[in-house]
Formats: sequence, C-alpha cells, structure tokens
Amino acid sequence: MGFDIDLSGRSALVTGASSGLGRHFAKVLARAGAKVIVAARRVGALEDVCNEISELGGAARAVPLDVNDQASVEKAIEAAASSSRLDILVNNAGVTVTKSVLDVSEEEWDRVVDTNLKGNFLVAQAAARIMKSQGSGGAIINIASILGLRAAGHVSPYMASKAGVVHLTKAMALELARYNIRVNALCPGYIETELNQDFFASEAGQALIRRIPQRRLGSPSDLDGALLLLCSDAGSYITGSALAVDGGHLVSSL
Ligand code: NDP
Repeated sequence: MGFDIDLSGRSALVTGASSGLGRHFAKVLARAGAKVIVAARRVGALEDVCNEISELGGAARAVPLDVNDQASVEKAIEAAASSSRLDILVNNAGVTVTKSVLDVSEEEWDRVVDTNLKGNFLVAQAAARIMKSQGSGGAIINIASILGLRAAGHVSPYMASKAGVVHLTKAMALELARYNIRVNALCPGYIETELNQDFFASEAGQALIRRIPQRRLGSPSDLDGALLLLCSDAGSYITGSALAVDGGHLVSSL
C-alpha cells in the first residue's frame, strides 16, 4: 500500500536497521524520499540494506552503532549528522529474553533493559541535541510495544523496558516541544517476521492469534502508515503519544 507522504530533503537515522522491522522502516522512509542512515552492530548486514535501498532508487548509508556504548552512540550520531541534517530518528534497536520472572538472571535483565531503555535514551538524547542545534526541529519515533502497555508471561524485563520507553517518550516530548522536536512512541502488536514464524505456526501461536480481535498477525507493512504519520508534517501536532498498531490486541476481551 502506498502513502502520499513526501520526505524528500529530510534525513532519517534508523537504529537496529540490520534486520526485521528496522530494515523495513529504513526502506519505507527511503521510498518516501528521505536520505536514510542505517545503524546497528552488524555492519555487513547494514551494507546489504543500503544496496537494497539503492536498488529501489533511494539513498542510504551505514554507520556502526552499539546502543550500549555511549562513545559509539555519540560517534554514530556525529557521523549521521556529518554530511546532512538529522531530521528524523527511528529509535528501533531492541532485544528480548523469554523466561519466567523466577529465572531471569541479572545479566539478562541488564542486557534487555540497558539495550531497550538506556540505549533508547542515549540515542534520543544525542539526536535531540543535534536537532536542537540545527534549529529546525525534528521527529523522534521510539519503537516501544503493546507489551509496554499490557502484560504477557515470560517477558518481564522486556515489558519493564518498553513501559519505560513509553513514559520516557512523554518526558522527552514535554521538554523538547519548545525546540519543535516531536517525540512519539509507536507500539506494535505481534508482527510476523522470519524470527517468529515457527512460533505462530504452533498451537500456542495459533491460540494467541485467536485472542487478537482482528484474528490475524500484523505484517511489517501494517506499521507504515503510523510510521510515516509520526515522521512527517502530517503528524505536526502529535507529540507525547503512544500509538498502538495491533489489530485491536490491547482491547481484547477480558
Ligand atoms: P530484530 O531482532 O529483527 O531486530 C533488532 C535490531 O536491533 C537488530 O537490527 C539489531 O542489530 C539491533 N540491536 C540489538 N542490540 C543492539 C545494540 N546493542 N546496538 C545497536 N543495535 C542493536 O527484532 P525486530 O525487528 O522484531 O524488533 C525491532 C524493534 O521492534 C524492537 O525494539 C522490538 O522490541 C520492537 N517490536 C517488535 C515486535 C515484533 O513483533 N517483531 C513487536 C513490538 C515491538 P545488530 O544485532 O546488528 O546490532
């Protein structure tokens, strides 16, 4: 599905763009005309994304980024802003662990919460500083999750980190509005990717799909409209929101 949103002349950084949703978001923004900077730890995979984007007629370049390392974050943001302005940040890098609350180790807690919450903060902070200094505002889209808004089993550090991202989004929106920087959280429901296809084909996966009011999983392209809305002038009066795109999963019957 196409959307009539024009991001030509804008420059967008997408973190966690080496796979999954980040890779998809980078292509959506490039198709809308933005110059895209793709960032993650696996630089080889980022180069593949850049090639895919240039085959689509878009412009992209790769910068290495580990969101758990502040020096790496600062270097990546500087590199992103070195040859063009930075107008849009899609703060998407994230990890999870699937374990009972009784079994999560301290190392697992730190890995998930540091990557998803602290990493999200460090990248958004560095990007917001650049956007403020440019003087023409910007849009930050934090990729949270419906698990930041409602509960499910065996993902406690992930849920805590994503709830933190939703609230951090509001704190940043409040403080950055005066610089015309909008900050919003996009909260996807269950989106089918290569990584989870096997689970959703299983009996437990099928049972989960039956609990989604629309009775289907999302596909990455189901997020395109919300992403482009929050990134573009179409969303110019939207800040501090948490937009769920989940087939109604959050309003499933108790
Ligand atoms: P993937 O595992 O496919 O992608 C995660 C991305 O994050 C990878 O590109 C990875 O790149 C990057 N990443 C992980 N750790 C770091 C780090 N320390 N520094 C920099 N980059 C890092 O997952 P998804 O595409 O499914 O998830 C993307 C986002 O969407 C996550 O925030 C996730 O929580 C969220 N989400 C996903 C849903 C889904 O159903 N798929 C639903 C709701 C939310 P690399 O390893 O190269 O560094």
